[in-house]
Amino acid sequence: MTVQCPYCGADSQVVDSRATTEGVRRRRLCNGCKRRFTTYERVGAPSLKVIKRSDKNEPFDSDKLQRALARVCRNRPTVTAEAIRRIVRDIEAHLLDSGAKYVRSGQIVTLALERLIEIDKLSYERLATDYIDEDGQLRTDHKNQVDEKSDQLDLFQADD
Ligand SMILES: [Zn+2]
Repeated sequence: MTVQCPYCGADSQVVDSRATTEGVRRRRLCNGCKRRFTTYERVGAPSLKVIKRSDKNEPFDSDKLQRALARVCRNRPTVTAEAIRRIVRDIEAHLLDSGAKYVRSGQIVTLALERLIEIDKLSYERLATDYIDEDGQLRTDHKNQVDEKSDQLDLFQADD
């Protein structure tokens, strides 16, 4: 499992692990800025599942969300890789804090839209165009109308 540095977003490596009654405490060293930080992995940490438009579900995958947003924000110099990482971390924290076990992919899109509009209107529109219908309603269930374009934009499409 790669953990991104909270200061600069680069990958980190584990320098020390210690089991505690709460779970596992790890000291990590950032491969980018070389700062150290500590993570705690709780035993039985809440797992979050995403219900996709097809009604199938899969574990929440922040890397996948990051790749999807990078596609939406392609060729937009105002949206840096770091800005995307921040959005993903923010959404993940928001979802975990909510305590929900299941989240619809449409909710994740909504959270992403709320954050994108503050950074880049065009990226916001790219994502919104695919997910919001003429009445301003989020299209979370248009599996009968999924075309190639929206399939590419599906944040949680299957990899296969
Ligand atoms: Zn760093």
